[in-house]
Amino acid sequence: MDNYVKKAYIRTYGCKQNFADSEKISGFLALSGFEIVKTAEEADLILFNTCAVRENAEQRVFGNVGALKKLKADKPETVIVLSGCMTQQSNIAERFKTKFPFIDTIIGTDILSRLPEIIAKVGSNERKSTVINIGEAGGSYGDSHEGVKPLREGLYTANVPIMNGCDNFCTYCVVPLVRGREVSRRPENIVAEVKELIAEGRKDILLLGQNVNSFGKGSNYGFIDLLRELDSIPGEFIIDYMTSHPKDCGRELLDFIANSRNISRHLHLPVQSGSNRILSLMNRGYTREQYMELAAYAKAKIPAISLTTDILVGFPGETYEDFKDTLDLVEKIGFDSAYTFIYSKREGTKAAEMADFISADEKSAWFKELLDLQGRIGERSYERYIGKTLRVLCLGQGRSDPQLQTGKSRQGIIVDFSGAVKAGEFADVRVTRALPWALVGELTVDSF
Ligand code: SAH
Ligand code: SF4
Repeated sequence: MDNYVKKAYIRTYGCKQNFADSEKISGFLALSGFEIVKTAEEADLILFNTCAVRENAEQRVFGNVGALKKLKADKPETVIVLSGCMTQQSNIAERFKTKFPFIDTIIGTDILSRLPEIIAKVGSNERKSTVINIGEAGGSYGDSHEGVKPLREGLYTANVPIMNGCDNFCTYCVVPLVRGREVSRRPENIVAEVKELIAEGRKDILLLGQNVNSFGKGSNYGFIDLLRELDSIPGEFIIDYMTSHPKDCGRELLDFIANSRNISRHLHLPVQSGSNRILSLMNRGYTREQYMELAAYAKAKIPAISLTTDILVGFPGETYEDFKDTLDLVEKIGFDSAYTFIYSKREGTKAAEMADFISADEKSAWFKELLDLQGRIGERSYERYIGKTLRVLCLGQGRSDPQLQTGKSRQGIIVDFSGAVKAGEFADVRVTRALPWALVGELTVDSF
């Protein structure tokens, strides 16, 4: 038994931030001698890192955790842990505990601080189900965890959380309740991490935060300062970021990006609704006019930009008239793509107290109308790149056509192209064809 390597299986739900947390947890477990495995059956430690942003994500977790019952009965020594945003809510944590007594530990979002006690359980005889210290929201990348190197998948990309939590309290959103107040990482730690990633050969870095524009709030070093420092690291790479909040995304940021070398030309700017009445009920802090002006400025200043968004359908009290304002905004702006969601009631939020008159069927019909519209727009929106030359990071052989290479442009768009370039290198690709989800092109002659 001495040489036995303990195995851990991590299943992650939800946003990129949660995936970044899991990479950090994997890094910590690897440092502690664990092998990270791909199936729950072979693991000594199973960790489900959950998401609370919408009800259907929660239902999936309940289903998947329930399915572990048999595994635990067959292999009672397996330690089962639930973490993440769902478990940060004490009522949900209690529900898990009662419904699935075979769970060993339920922790919140400050996972790394609790990992040592969890690791100690693996191989020990302690089998009491525990819920520990729910209520202190936190991320797995606070100051005390800076030394832990995340175990990242892929060779060229990396997600880098730059902050945790959110202070905005959009009325529909559970994130501020489960992730706690906004805390920014120290700039020097972020810059050091990105430098190391670039030195490792990574070229596509995504900075993560719920509202990256308020990075460093209260200090004299803000998001633009961070981007400026990262942009000046020698070499060619892409620094992307999400999520930008329209109320805090200033024109100076767009001016800076327009003149930067390595900052992404993709702007994900969630609008949520096109109705001023609903935006105000959502507590978003901007009007549709302000949003449209910002989008127009971004397009004028950075002509090659790709603009994407998030839209919420069926917010309490939303009428068809309000929804038509959303359709109108979508049509006028012409997003390259939109993540669309049907409103899901989240306990503890302000919107959960608001009267909701619209039936689920009606909301689904509106949702479909929006999908159809965005589908029609998205179908043709990449056509504007035809004939243009884009700088593309080559990621290897194409999946749809093995004759082609595939890569990612500075706009975050998939580009398949003919011609030989080594994975991990940049090339100039002239776009010849636009598909709804990708561009197709060929290397420009001067790239050889
Ligand atoms: N911080 C980011 C978004 C985080 S959540 C921002 O402010 O844009 C990601 C997306 O999930 C949101 O943009 C929103 O469209 C959606 N979302 C959040 N809460 C939701 C809820 N209660 N029901 C449905 N979708 C929701
Ligand atoms: Fe949620 Fe709003 Fe914060 Fe985004 S900005 S995480 S939608 S509260």
